[in-house]
Amino acid sequence: MISFEQAMREIRQHAQQLATERVPLAEMCGRVLAEDVISSINLPGFDNSAMDGFALGAAHLQLPEGAVIPVQRLQLAGNAVFSLGENACQIMTGAAVPHGAVTVLPVEDVELIGSFESADGFSIRLKQNLVAQQNIRLAGEDVQSGELLCAAGSELNTSHVMLFASLGIDAVTVRKRIKAAVFCTGEELLIDNAVDLRSGQIRNSNGPYILAELHALGVDVVHYVVIPDQQDAYLQAVQAAEKNGCHLILSTGAVSVGVRDFVPSALAALNATIIFHKVRMRPAKPSLFAVLPSGALVFGLPGNPMSCAVGLRFFVQEAISGLQGLQSERAIAAVLQTPITKKIGWQLMQKARLSISAHGQAQVSLLPGQESFRIKPFVQANVWVQLPEVAEHLTEGELVYCYPIHSPGLLL
Ligand code: AMP
Ligand code: MG
Repeated sequence: MISFEQAMREIRQHAQQLATERVPLAEMCGRVLAEDVISSINLPGFDNSAMDGFALGAAHLQLPEGAVIPVQRLQLAGNAVFSLGENACQIMTGAAVPHGAVTVLPVEDVELIGSFESADGFSIRLKQNLVAQQNIRLAGEDVQSGELLCAAGSELNTSHVMLFASLGIDAVTVRKRIKAAVFCTGEELLIDNAVDLRSGQIRNSNGPYILAELHALGVDVVHYVVIPDQQDAYLQAVQAAEKNGCHLILSTGAVSVGVRDFVPSALAALNATIIFHKVRMRPAKPSLFAVLPSGALVFGLPGNPMSCAVGLRFFVQEAISGLQGLQSERAIAAVLQTPITKKIGWQLMQKARLSISAHGQAQVSLLPGQESFRIKPFVQANVWVQLPEVAEHLTEGELVYCYPIHSPGLLL
């Protein structure tokens, strides 16, 4: 039996980054960038006005408050740049600041005399002394040509769409999506929810949970079946998944020490290399990780719903991160509110509620009902709290590591 940390290291070592593909901006959110994005241009591309107002030259700077300046021209957003000379021009937000202009005075800060259309001409009266370099957005002030904007391995979101679009980037290179197969084992599982439960039967909660989680993680599930507790059914399902090019094959149940727990022997029959089977942790102790000759990664998750959830959240998610070229996750440290005594030599993952105190401190309370069959407290929990193997008595006020149950990236 290996430790949780060792299990995570083994998974990371065997999960090799997938190949890449080009995707348009509209499809890149949630994907992992596989190339450095370096700007080939400046942003803004040219000096432009930050306000609706008046572009004035160096000579105007000397004028006192109350001076009247004739306005010769209107510079709209989209108009080409020109030379201002000794003149003043009216300018709109985003319009190219004319050559020779040293400041832009907002329309609110002048008194208008006449209107631009009037035959008598149009002037402005200064309400204050001018200051140079006001309200001009300089070329390259936001992004410099040659600057690294986003490193390979970044998870892309809509903010990246805004930046890349402004740079004229239409498509990026990302890691291919993961193809997965999911099998739920168990004679006790009801296959058709429309049918009444027979004595001894239960509904399948792990299958829909895994499908929903994988969907949220951007993994394509191309096979999903509930199979009876027969090794042949599992073998056939795995072989079909391999043929279909699945990178990830997950099953639930039949991986412990029960008389029908055939997953380890079935994998041996497939010449899989078992990397680990059983981890010194609870829940999810019976978890199994193997690599098939095709290179597909196989996880045997335990059937108990919380064991399945922990195995998926930590082991499978670490494999997904590896396949996608993402870095390993960092935990959130929080102050433990509920003291607990545990057995040394076992790591516990506990359902818990993380909150922020009135003083802005992350604090976490362990929830009642930690047994691996209990699903109701899962809905109250927002993090898994990791209680290390070496710990025995954990006191109130101690720092513990927390892992968000959903969207790990959101809080960081
Ligand atoms: P196993 O790992 O197959 O020994 O199953 C352990 C426990 O998890 C048993 O109580 C099973 O009935 C239960 N279980 C197995 N698979 C599922 C599933 N897909 N949904 C809900 N419970 C399950
Ligand atoms: Mg079973």
